Amino acid sequence: SDDSLPTSQHAVRVDIPGGPEVLQWTEVPVPSPGPGEVLVRTAAAGLNFIETYQRSGVYRMPHPFVPGSEGSGTVVGLGEGVSGVTGGDVVATAAGSGTYAEYFTAPVDQLLPIPAGVDPVEAAAIPLQGMTAHYLCRSTFTVESGQTVVIHAGAGGVGLLLTQLCVARGATVITTASTPEKKELSRQAGASEVLDYTGFAARVRELTAGEGAHAVFDGVGRDTFDESLDSLRVRGMLVLFGGSSGQVPPFDLQRLNGAGSLYVTRPSLAFYTRTAEETRWRAEELFTAMGAGTLDFRVGATYALSEAGRAHGDLESRRTTGKSLLLP
Ligand code: NDP
Repeated sequence: SDDSLPTSQHAVRVDIPGGPEVLQWTEVPVPSPGPGEVLVRTAAAGLNFIETYQRSGVYRMPHPFVPGSEGSGTVVGLGEGVSGVTGGDVVATAAGSGTYAEYFTAPVDQLLPIPAGVDPVEAAAIPLQGMTAHYLCRSTFTVESGQTVVIHAGAGGVGLLLTQLCVARGATVITTASTPEKKELSRQAGASEVLDYTGFAARVRELTAGEGAHAVFDGVGRDTFDESLDSLRVRGMLVLFGGSSGQVPPFDLQRLNGAGSLYVTRPSLAFYTRTAEETRWRAEELFTAMGAGTLDFRVGATYALSEAGRAHGDLESRRTTGKSLLLP
């Protein structure tokens, strides 16, 4: 521990589930890093859709809590048994605790190296959505050259990255997006067709000579799930990885039988970054692709941390593109 560190800090705190207004900008203690953890002075926190589920109560949380698991910054404290990192190192992570704050803690084995040429603030834009895009197309469904995949919310944080990774693997990518501007962004990321959210299944079938897509990556959920199933070819896979339009209600497994021996999975990042090795592999592939110029990321907006409520409102009302960052 360092005597020059303050004992209290500004942070966003949630005391009760609710709308964006429950995100309060207030004072909380600076956390101390536990065994195997580091304390980081925040350069930026990443905004992710999951924080809206945690805030509103879709996901149960212990209250009060400081939201945020993605962030970047400078290591300013080391917990017991930490090695390989020293004070002053600049790091980023998808697995921090309470990154909507001036200081946050993170497990040392979930720190990502920041590639040369990426500034510490922008580094917060990559870990969570980047590693999600990576595991979805490398490990949940291994996208291969010549395949056709559908990616919903193609202009979103995960969508823009996942589109580029799938195109780099030689796949044809069909996306959905809600506005002309978002459609154009998605095309720039490599989508060959950008469709509306209704009627896309029929169009996917037309574009694949009646066969359907090999996989659909669906983070929109309630509004798209049925048509996503209808977009698949025989033995295709529906990867349901989120519910930005709401959660998918229970459904009859017999539908998988009648529609062509389909697969449905509901993956989550934590189960695809279980070891330091797995996390490092994903991060290194992402950063290599960034270095090679095949993966570009887009910071669509930045907000002060004190304006986290406005940021949540924009994300939930579909006003964001790419990555949004929160700055202390
Ligand atoms: P996005 O930047 O993609 O934002 C969500 C987008 O969803 C919106 O911009 C909007 O794009 C689209 N959308 C469609 N319908 C709605 C609706 N009714 N209300 C709001 N948005 C809607 O967010 P993220 O990249 O952070 O996350 C994308 C999805 O991935 C989320 O569902 C998230 O929970 C999930 N996720 C899952 C992970 C996992 O491991 N399972 C990890 C990370 C993210 P448009 O305007 O084009 O419709």
